[in-house]
Amino acid sequence: MDTNYFKEKLEEELFLVEKELNSIGRKNPDNKNDWEAEPAEMNVDSADENEVADNMEEFEGNTAVLKELEIRYNDLKDALAKIEKGTYGICEISGEAIEEERLIANPAARTCKKHMV
Ligand SMILES: [Zn+2]
Repeated sequence: MDTNYFKEKLEEELFLVEKELNSIGRKNPDNKNDWEAEPAEMNVDSADENEVADNMEEFEGNTAVLKELEIRYNDLKDALAKIEKGTYGICEISGEAIEEERLIANPAARTCKKHMV
């Protein structure tokens, strides 16, 4: 299998995901694989009720997006680590080789088609 092809794909996506993560959140200083949504900046003294509600909504929305991105980020990181270790493309459940077409569709796939969740 040409792992270089997948490595490139993974690194490309990782770069984009990390950029997105940084735009709406910040890294948890205690755990570098964990992000938290950045609270919207506002002047608490002058903000009215609507403004506070809007900001809360945005914060909650960002938290949800962040969670998705974080999962993807960790999948990508793990896949890259597997390439380093030489275990890339192996189903985490059955230990069988993951179908190449599945890896092309999702280079960070952890399982073969049979064990897709
Ligand atoms: Zn499997």
